[in-house]
Amino acid sequence: MGVTSKLLNLYRVDQQLSGLKRKLKAAERYLNAQSAQRDALQQQAETLKSQLRQLEASAHNDEQEVNSMEERMLTLRDRANTAQTSKEHTALLTELNTVKADKTLIEERGLGRLTEIDSLRTALAEVEAQIEQRGKVVEVAKKDRDERETEIRDRVEELEQKREAARAEVPAAALALYEERQNVASDDEEVMAAIEELSRKDMEYTCGACYTIVPAELTNRLLQRGDLSQCGKCHAILYIEDGLRDEIQTAADKKRAKNATAQSR
Ligand SMILES: [Zn+2]
Repeated sequence: MGVTSKLLNLYRVDQQLSGLKRKLKAAERYLNAQSAQRDALQQQAETLKSQLRQLEASAHNDEQEVNSMEERMLTLRDRANTAQTSKEHTALLTELNTVKADKTLIEERGLGRLTEIDSLRTALAEVEAQIEQRGKVVEVAKKDRDERETEIRDRVEELEQKREAARAEVPAAALALYEERQNVASDDEEVMAAIEELSRKDMEYTCGACYTIVPAELTNRLLQRGDLSQCGKCHAILYIEDGLRDEIQTAADKKRAKNATAQSR
């Protein structure tokens, strides 16, 4: 078996493995996205709670201030009623009016705070409902991920053993190249690609990954099971499907036989 075929055995196992794991990975990505959304909502709830605590404390302070102002007003009123002089009476009434005006301001501010507290509570209740809902989605996503993992576990184990066996057959240099390709190839790039026939007569073949014409020299090397060939453009390691190789060789044999017959006549 040529080096390309040995590598192809490994590649096919790798493809089966990544195909199996693809669904699991998708389930994992979904789970992570849902968990992240729930965490963000929880963060939002924490922020709302702390704003609420601050406002409630301020409202409480206002309330106490209003109480002490009311007490102060009662005292001032009593003293005004029992004032000895009209000057003292006027001064006490002026102070009483000042305290009253201040109290009104604080009461207005308090009303504003109460409205704010109400809307924060409404917002918090909404966020908490969303957290609960998202939590259910996360649970379902987690269950789905676990199920997929269990579903493929045996098959993955089996394939991983197969992979080890296939990997052991590949010469070190070819394996190094293959693993380097696996590392550098992006998701939409192929590590290996079959060559595709454009014209058998003109020996025109293209890389199955990027459709660049493969030089005839590389095609011949593949046909003869020689060294590894890489596409000059996308660097995929090229291979030829057995069926196509057989067809090309049968056609070449026939042509040779025909030529030989023609010459012998
Ligand atoms: Zn290519």
